[in-house]
Amino acid sequence: MWINGRNVEAAGARCGNVHAPATGDVVRTVAFANPGEVDCAVRSAETAFSSWKETTALNRSRILGRFCDLLRKNQEPLARLISEEHGKSVSDAMGSMQRGIEVVEFAAGAPHLLKGAFSDNVARDIDCHSVLHPLGVCAGITPFNFPAMVPLWMFPMALACGNTFVLKPSEKVPSASMRMAELLKEAGLPDGVLNVVHGDGETVDALLAHPGIRAISFVGSTRVARHIYASAAQHGKRVQALGGAKNHAIVAPDADMEAAADALMSAAFGSAGQRCMAISAVVAIGAAGDRIVDVMTRKARKLTPADTGPLITSEQCERIRTMIDEGILQGATLTLDGREWDATASAKGFFLGPTIFDRVTSQMSIYQNEIFGPVLVVLRVDSIEEAISVVNGNPYGNGVAIFTKSGGMARRFENEIEVGMVGVNVAIPIPMAFYSFGGWKASLFGDLCMHGMEGVYFYTRRKTITTRW
Ligand code: NAD
Repeated sequence: MWINGRNVEAAGARCGNVHAPATGDVVRTVAFANPGEVDCAVRSAETAFSSWKETTALNRSRILGRFCDLLRKNQEPLARLISEEHGKSVSDAMGSMQRGIEVVEFAAGAPHLLKGAFSDNVARDIDCHSVLHPLGVCAGITPFNFPAMVPLWMFPMALACGNTFVLKPSEKVPSASMRMAELLKEAGLPDGVLNVVHGDGETVDALLAHPGIRAISFVGSTRVARHIYASAAQHGKRVQALGGAKNHAIVAPDADMEAAADALMSAAFGSAGQRCMAISAVVAIGAAGDRIVDVMTRKARKLTPADTGPLITSEQCERIRTMIDEGILQGATLTLDGREWDATASAKGFFLGPTIFDRVTSQMSIYQNEIFGPVLVVLRVDSIEEAISVVNGNPYGNGVAIFTKSGGMARRFENEIEVGMVGVNVAIPIPMAFYSFGGWKASLFGDLCMHGMEGVYFYTRRKTITTRW
């Protein structure tokens, strides 16, 4: 754990193995914090809050600026650490770190972001202004798939706004967060402002119940997001809980099929499909169906384990194999079977090859459930109306894309689609740090998204002051 500016050994009655998914080896173990240790971290953050909230926004911003420099300087070693524990390639990890660094750059604009508003003469001799105050101690709980980027969506924003923080990263990828905490100390962050505890659901429940924590940010699966949302609210905390996804790409008959298929290869199979914005369902309109399935199957067949990387655990591999069996039983057409990779030398790690199912219906379990692996399902429809209604009928609403050359069709899609992050001829439409990241429906529980101005609003409470002199 990282508490009050230093490494602290957890008592370690409960701990977990951290694997290198590319080889299947256990590379380290991580001790899970018990409620007493969680309390220690929260108390350290509470103590630090009294002076951190008084530190000027400009000085907080300077520390974040130095942290940003250190992240850039250490980007490659951090990416290697992420690659080891997560399995994604170093260049993929470098890319996701870059997106995290951009949030730190945005957060370093704290003096500007925290400017309130002023209206003079709202009535005779009366002025009105608003100010933004920090909340206190905030906590973040993050998933395995972006070991640095998702934590960087949270704590830099919280710290910029004058809060202190307790981070509980995924127990499957604990090391990047510890390294970032060290770098923040090197950047001049006072002890106790950022703390890191490790653990599983039990550690999280201790955070949720702790009276010292004012707000909870969560990113992970929908099942856990629902629990976090309900439990944090029950304990009187502000909460944003981002959940799972089933992201669709609509392919119209007029789309450039080669370009669309190229984009979909990376969007569906990059990082073995374990990105929250990964495309996992293609909705092909009319004549696009045969063409896009042919081109995608041809391209996906050429991908290698080095292109996709492994899955996070052997259990996840097994779960997805069972889902592939279900898809076959339910009558979908398997055009590419990723289980064929078993025969290759890559079988040592947690690998599963790109898998494509055609003629999938919205009743099939491979469509209804988030697979979170390298499995792409293709549904066929006759019109854009039908395509939009398929996407809007799905319980998730994280990301979506359309591939078309028709401006009219794209515009209609933008207006009618019930999804938070929308791409037009862009397969993975991740908003930049100065916009906000978050989906709709079962992909986000709460009212405010990550980073951008919504991040500022999440980590502050506003006060409006009316004065007469
Ligand atoms: P997960 O929900 O299993 O775990 C997320 C975090 O919650 C971890 O820190 C874990 O320790 C903790 N946790 C696990 N079980 C818990 C429980 N019962 N009670 C309390 N806390 C618990 O998710 P994961 O497998 O690490 O990550 C993959 C999931 O995250 C996918 O569903 C993916 O779509 C989602 N995700 C969503 C976004 C987004 O922006 N919406 C981004 C990244 C990942």
